[in-house]
Amino acid sequence: MQPPSEITPLCTLCHKHRAIQRYTRGGFDEMLCASCLDRMAVQDASEDQLLHRLDLARRGQYDEALACLDAIWEANRHRDHTGWLARSVASERAHILYEAGRYEEALQACEAWALLGFENVTDRWFVGSTKASILQAIGRHREALEAFEEAFSHQDSRYASGIPYYLPRLVELSEKVGQPVDEKWRRVAEAGAEDFAVELPVRDSLGESMRALAAMTQGMPSKREREWKARQSGGDGGDAP
Ligand SMILES: [Zn+2]
Repeated sequence: MQPPSEITPLCTLCHKHRAIQRYTRGGFDEMLCASCLDRMAVQDASEDQLLHRLDLARRGQYDEALACLDAIWEANRHRDHTGWLARSVASERAHILYEAGRYEEALQACEAWALLGFENVTDRWFVGSTKASILQAIGRHREALEAFEEAFSHQDSRYASGIPYYLPRLVELSEKVGQPVDEKWRRVAEAGAEDFAVELPVRDSLGESMRALAAMTQGMPSKREREWKARQSGGDGGDAP
């Protein structure tokens, strides 16, 4: 008699539900549950037309790009159980409107995007950074800094590796209002450095230290990546020559 795990393999994506079907795309080939199959289907539907939408936007056909986005949403909303597509569409809408120079509408799109909730803190930082870009474009630099700082005040140690990437944004937004980066962010920068097992570089200002950290950690393995690598080499039995 087979053990239960072989009769009902778990979905390799969520590890929660029973896998019902093989899903193959690109280099991906896994057994997934019904919910994760839908999740991949909505992602594929969106990505299959991404180049087309980018092309429309590049040619200044913003309304056509937005209409294409609306069509994907209408055709797939019934299977968007996780909200991934709703967030993805909201994000793209805000960026298209920003590209189009329709800043007030872009701000509204950003607000709607934020109301959908965040998968993790880095999503929240991305929304904050986008909102800051829109506010910057209309000269509202103080509000831009506030929007980004509010988003960045949400921290989660599991995503500390994302911190260095966002630090230059904080420095730039602070400079725009003619002030140094608030000292309260030093602790956050240090947490980002720690994730890459480095020290926050010492420079003339906190802002310069942050920029140096961002440059230094680019392409470096994060804590999670180092741990994963250690597990992989440990799993080989450790008797490699
Ligand atoms: Zn699943």
